[in-house]
Amino acid sequence: MHHIYCPYCEEMREEEEYSYTGEAHIERPKDPASIADEAWGDYLFFRANPRGIHHEMWYHTAGCRRYFNATRDTHSYQIHETYKMGELPAVTAPTKAALVADKAKAAPVKDKAKPKTKTKAKVTPEEQQGDAS
Ligand SMILES: [Zn+2]
Repeated sequence: MHHIYCPYCEEMREEEEYSYTGEAHIERPKDPASIADEAWGDYLFFRANPRGIHHEMWYHTAGCRRYFNATRDTHSYQIHETYKMGELPAVTAPTKAALVADKAKAAPVKDKAKPKTKTKAKVTPEEQQGDAS
């Protein structure tokens, strides 16, 4: 049995009290009449289906009967946070650029076996004399 924290009731309640209502943070186009049919269709019908961090809208059906948002990992089902409508999530999915950077860091370095040889600085005879005194 999962428990979900309702940000309005401010307590953990059983999952059965809630209803999942869809993806969060879907912004309605400001002037639907002026956008192309394809853009309107995208707004109406297409939603993200990520494997990992996902922001969702939930409804506290058997409680305060209010909508709130949750950040849930779709792979592990772990709910990282819940927050009130109008608030922004604290937990967000890493961007593609960040993922690429992490892979580059984790990749083994091929030249690791070869130690870099330091080039000896050329010392002029005048400098050698200066060190000796
Ligand atoms: Zn509630």
